[in-house]
Amino acid sequence: MTEVIPISQVRLPDGTEERVLAVLRSGRLAQGPVVEELEARFAELTGVRSAVAVNNGTTALIAALSVLDLGPGDEVVTSPFTFVATLNAILAAGATARFADIDDSDFNVDAASAAALVGTSTVALLPVHLFGQCADLDAFSALADRNDLHLVEDAAQAHGASAGGRRAGSVGTGCFSFYATKNLTTGEGGMVTTDDEHLADRLRLLRNQGMRARYEYEVAGNNFRMTDLQAAVGLPQIDEYRSSVRRRAVNAAFLSEALADVEGLVTPRVLDGREHVWHQFTVRVTDACRIDRDELARRLERRGVGSGVYYPRLVFDYDCYRDHPAIRTDEVPVAARVAGEVLSLPVHPDLTGSQLDRIASSVVEELGR
Ligand SMILES: *Cc1c(COP(=O)(O)O)cnc(C)c1O
Repeated sequence: MTEVIPISQVRLPDGTEERVLAVLRSGRLAQGPVVEELEARFAELTGVRSAVAVNNGTTALIAALSVLDLGPGDEVVTSPFTFVATLNAILAAGATARFADIDDSDFNVDAASAAALVGTSTVALLPVHLFGQCADLDAFSALADRNDLHLVEDAAQAHGASAGGRRAGSVGTGCFSFYATKNLTTGEGGMVTTDDEHLADRLRLLRNQGMRARYEYEVAGNNFRMTDLQAAVGLPQIDEYRSSVRRRAVNAAFLSEALADVEGLVTPRVLDGREHVWHQFTVRVTDACRIDRDELARRLERRGVGSGVYYPRLVFDYDCYRDHPAIRTDEVPVAARVAGEVLSLPVHPDLTGSQLDRIASSVVEELGR
């Protein structure tokens, strides 16, 4: 039995255990100085003035949307091809979700398609930087400016990515996740980034029960706090993040080259001016392939090659969202097709040369050239 190559793998840098142990021994486990240190380091990585740590990526989105004071009928335009948290956060913030189509060259929501949905009810744009590549930040920020809309970025998969020289989470309000499988992890965790000091202040209030000084409540808040234990897990990874992304990029380049002439298979593209951080290496198994996507995934599994389908269906295409009063859907033909084609292959930094060979040769043997 050959070992299985996992689609993702958690490996914590040397020094992590010592940092966590120091927090345990300090007796201060909840939000404290280590969270503050993580915020400062993450703000630096993202190129923003403020980073506000929260307990997961979903609450990062909920917090970023909640401070906009959205009400019923206020529309947020986002991607139909995303993790469900993007949609759930819009609903939790009390707004209405709308979906623009995506571009199949980068899997991201398309700014022109979003522009076509903008109307008098639109209040915010919420592009998702899927798989580690930014959506067209220039186009989304221009669209937001032109229509006086808020811009919130779902950057849960795109720590440190950039487009047009601007980093994910530095153009609009950035929302990040540190879930176990993300490029940076604290087990569970999240971060909201902004250059706007007033917004950062509101986010910090919201995170901590609306409390400025002890038992002085300014707004109706919540508990979105991260713990120092979690922050201690994340900090050593920030030191190594650039080199970890470089290894992902080397792995992606190898796979792209090895799979370049497989009939019907489309390897991921890095668009002009974008710095991809390779959270996922996602190919499209098109109709021109010998077998379909699901059959390829099954055969790879038999060969011990892990893979993942992110995402098998449009985010709103579930019974619990059908006829939902806060969801408005439009035709999104590109996203609908792409959901049936995508397959993510392992690209994580700990892959060995022989594992990479096995991933590539397995795909080539199943699909032919
Ligand atoms: C992971 C993820 C989230 C949510 O993050 P959690 O930390 O799991 O709550 C939101 N959006 C996208 C695109 C994600 O991949």
